[in-house]
Amino acid sequence: MTELASYAVSEANSRGRKSPESAPQGRSEFQRDRDRIIHSGAFRRLEYKTQVFVNHEGDLFRTRLTHSIEVAQIARSIARRLHLNEDLAEAISLAHDLGHTPFGHAGQDALNDCMKAYGGFEHNLQSVRVVDVLEERYATFDGLNLCFETREGILKHCRMEQAAQLGELGERFLNNRRPSLEAQIANLADEIAYNNHDVDDGLRSGLITLEQLAAVPLVAEHLQAVRVAYPDLTGRRVVHETVRRMINTLVTDLIRQSAANIAAQNLETLEDVRSAPALIAFSSALVMQQRELKKFLHMHLYRHYRVMRMSAKAHRIISELFAVFMEDSRLLPTQFQSHETRDESGRARVVADYIAGMTDRYAIREHKRIFAVEEDSI
Ligand code: MG
Repeated sequence: MTELASYAVSEANSRGRKSPESAPQGRSEFQRDRDRIIHSGAFRRLEYKTQVFVNHEGDLFRTRLTHSIEVAQIARSIARRLHLNEDLAEAISLAHDLGHTPFGHAGQDALNDCMKAYGGFEHNLQSVRVVDVLEERYATFDGLNLCFETREGILKHCRMEQAAQLGELGERFLNNRRPSLEAQIANLADEIAYNNHDVDDGLRSGLITLEQLAAVPLVAEHLQAVRVAYPDLTGRRVVHETVRRMINTLVTDLIRQSAANIAAQNLETLEDVRSAPALIAFSSALVMQQRELKKFLHMHLYRHYRVMRMSAKAHRIISELFAVFMEDSRLLPTQFQSHETRDESGRARVVADYIAGMTDRYAIREHKRIFAVEEDSI
């Protein structure tokens, strides 16, 4: 690792872990966080959770696992170039989607609707809940006991009324302070990763075409350059060469603009970062271009009728599972039943934890096991 800037997160300025532990041997505290995340059950389940396309639709589409690995790669590159803590940026990136429901955003919306009367459901908060409470891997504490800065980075946003209940993690929302630069990087690396892989997956699925995308400035510029440089190139290589250049442009722009923002603030300490405005940012030209791309993806991919059909199905599966478990908690697997004494909202949270932890295919199977009447479905 290159030398850290004085305002990077380091072991020296870290707020540490909730449950004190002895220092790791041969690796840093943030490498230990990353390793704990990789060994968690929730991390393995990301393999069978959807981004946009439901997991069984094809082997080549991104899942939340490959998405998280792409985010980590992009975040590390940016952190290294800015002399920030690569290991922390990587740990946050790998953990940022741990709390996601099955079926992507459709699943999150459905579970949030079900949880309306019980405080709602938000995947960011759920990711924190996974690493703080739900993982059961250590003898002496719940969760993974990650460093404060890793947990803070996972909690990208949260509503004010929730922030008030989150103790030290909620403070920055209440006091209008910023998270570390490493957390800001993970956040924007997420955006770079999903915008670009949704273009790639969207094309692969055939739901959008290169001709349509040629109207989007960020794509058009690079597609044109590829066609000029390689007039005989056809098929998938045109797409990959274009997407590769888009990612490179966004990463390079983010590094350049962020370095300029940091230089303009005369930062010295991590505290300076917290009281400054958000400094990790794209140039305004690329903010506009990304906005256009997002608009395109919303209109033509996320709202494509085939995606909408899957979303509707996801909504139905999740709402029906939630309702049936709330009505009769004896249908829950044994380990989720040990909370008989809980009130209704406590029960709802247990049901939400169970459903959020499901993979796409597990949710489909569980729905079938409960609602289908064929002999082999129980
Ligand atoms: Mg993500």
